[in-house]
Amino acid sequence: MLKQLLQLNKSLSDKLFESGKGPMGSKVISEKAHGIKKKDVSTGAIKVIEQLHAADYQAYLVGGGVRDLLLGSKPKDFDIATDATPEQLKSLFRSARIIGKRFRIVHVRFGREIIEVTTFRDSHEEADGEHEAAQSEHGVLLKDNVYGNIKTDAERRDFTINALYYNPENGDLLEFSSGLEDLNARTLRIVGNPEDRYKEDPVRLLRAIRFAAKLGFSIEQATEAPIREHADYLSHIPPARLFEEVLKLFMSGSATATLNLLRDYHCLQYLFPSTDYCMNNGRETDSNMVSCATANTDKRIRQNKKVTPAFVYAAFLWPAMRAAMRHQIKEHQLSPHEAMQRAAQGVISQQLSYTAIPKRFLIPMREIWVLQLRLPQRNGKRADALMEHPRFRAAYDFLLLREQAGETVQGLGDWWTRYQAADDETRAAMKNELSKEPSKRPRRRSRRKNTKPSDSAQ
Ligand code: ATP
Ligand code: MG
Repeated sequence: MLKQLLQLNKSLSDKLFESGKGPMGSKVISEKAHGIKKKDVSTGAIKVIEQLHAADYQAYLVGGGVRDLLLGSKPKDFDIATDATPEQLKSLFRSARIIGKRFRIVHVRFGREIIEVTTFRDSHEEADGEHEAAQSEHGVLLKDNVYGNIKTDAERRDFTINALYYNPENGDLLEFSSGLEDLNARTLRIVGNPEDRYKEDPVRLLRAIRFAAKLGFSIEQATEAPIREHADYLSHIPPARLFEEVLKLFMSGSATATLNLLRDYHCLQYLFPSTDYCMNNGRETDSNMVSCATANTDKRIRQNKKVTPAFVYAAFLWPAMRAAMRHQIKEHQLSPHEAMQRAAQGVISQQLSYTAIPKRFLIPMREIWVLQLRLPQRNGKRADALMEHPRFRAAYDFLLLREQAGETVQGLGDWWTRYQAADDETRAAMKNELSKEPSKRPRRRSRRKNTKPSDSAQ
């Protein structure tokens, strides 16, 4: 009975997808059944595929581009899989550049568009030597450059919904596992044995969380089970690669959902240990600061406004920075500025052993922090001078975030909002008002004894 039912179910779903047999035992889903239109694929991707076909190579659109088209959303970019090797691609496309060592891919440029082209992969067990595949002591693949065919390529992909191959020339969609079914059921399912796949590349733990958050998919049980248990595998990933993942996790419009899942699956501690600690053990404002930062980033992305990792990092590390600063002031009687310098150094050096932070983000991040000490000082020419600072706008936004998180900033956010919108006369009056207020700054004493906070940043 069960067998009959299963057979009936299979023939129904075959009918639904109008599937036929394709290359290497794949299932072919026709255009009428899957609904992807060639016109929705970028010109660059179509041209690359056409040129590859003309040179007698296989070429398919694969990964996020196909997945997003099936879901009816606009793909961020298009990835192509082919049987041409990186060298063959280089001789076929003048603009081709081979990048990456661990995983060699080819970037083909078409005007402003960059198409990522990868050669079909095979299992590393098929490796010929160390130049193709290598493993770390923890079993993490350090090189994944063994080439194969479309079937082995599908087996090397991360999730079934990312392993669908679309040929825009004849409209066929090829699948080797349950990609389309999983996509329709909004389920994230890893390809192959979950434990093995996470072990050989722990970044897949983060990718599972990222796609679940971004697409609102549920994670299939066997795919989900090892995530919490093996979150520590993330410590086997070099900081530079984790930085790249952090950008994708928090700068793609689903930062809030991603943060919640990262905490839920015990993964945040391997990316931002001090943030995780402060969110679990710190003050309410600490948790608020981080969640306000993710909500703010998501909102800005929805509004097509610029977002920078410097701001996100500044907010994520702020709770630890404040705690370290309080400690420096209490234990070493430092001025707020000195305390901040020392605190920042400690917090940043700990963070760098988890995720890299390139200098172009590190410098503005520190400036955002330092400006928090200058924002309360508005007398004389200071307010106008501060507004000229290239990081003023970010520092002001950061101040509003602190206020929103529940930090006491004594109406400073509101003052700066009004000051920026005011005309010269009103500005002069606002500064005049300030000079009438009793100074909160302690009278100048020797620096070492300056133990009282003179600003609201601690
Ligand atoms: P996005 O919308 O973020 O670009 P994506 O699925 O296209 O999502 P990419 O990082 O661009 O993600 O990767 C393209 C494809 O390459 C994926 O869809 C997947 O098939 C494969 N892939 C990427 N990273 C891995 C990995 N770590 N392990 C296995 N397959 C991967
Ligand atoms: Mg992609």
